[in-house]
Amino acid sequence: MRVRSAGKPNVEVRRSPRRQSTVSAYRDGGRVIVLIPDQFTRAEEREWVDKMLSRLAARDVRMRRTDAELTVRAVRLASRYFADYGERATPASVRWVANQNGRWGSCTPDDASIRISDRIMTMPAWVVDYVLLHEIAHLIVPVHSSAFWSLVNRYPKAERARGYLEGVAAVNGTTIHDD
Ligand SMILES: [Zn+2]
Repeated sequence: MRVRSAGKPNVEVRRSPRRQSTVSAYRDGGRVIVLIPDQFTRAEEREWVDKMLSRLAARDVRMRRTDAELTVRAVRLASRYFADYGERATPASVRWVANQNGRWGSCTPDDASIRISDRIMTMPAWVVDYVLLHEIAHLIVPVHSSAFWSLVNRYPKAERARGYLEGVAAVNGTTIHDD
């Protein structure tokens, strides 16, 4: 999103007679250098430049979504939606994990730690925020009681995000617990 709104980056295409079929791209200051084989047509060049730009953008998203970034984001969400709970709703640590046993996220209220499944890493930001907020709400209310859901529903896109996650689970043919 951020990449697109910033407009197309300054791209420099370099043709190499030594390249047979491989294409590569890297950043150099504010520019993106795309290396292509010399025999590529203009159409192939355009196609590959677009392809390489979207690969670089996807890599940026992955890099941005580190544990540190996730923690900052969670603390920001907590202070925005659960400010009235202060410290109680402030996560101590948030990290991405590979194995969540069929859960999108989990939390341990004792040490205020939150773990988020890396399967949601490529989902839209508002869905990631929902999963974070859901776990943060568990720091206040551990069970799925009506008090818990009224906390979660402070997030305007809560219902939409739950629908999104249910849809993904259905497409994948998996059962995901709403922990
Ligand atoms: Zn839950």
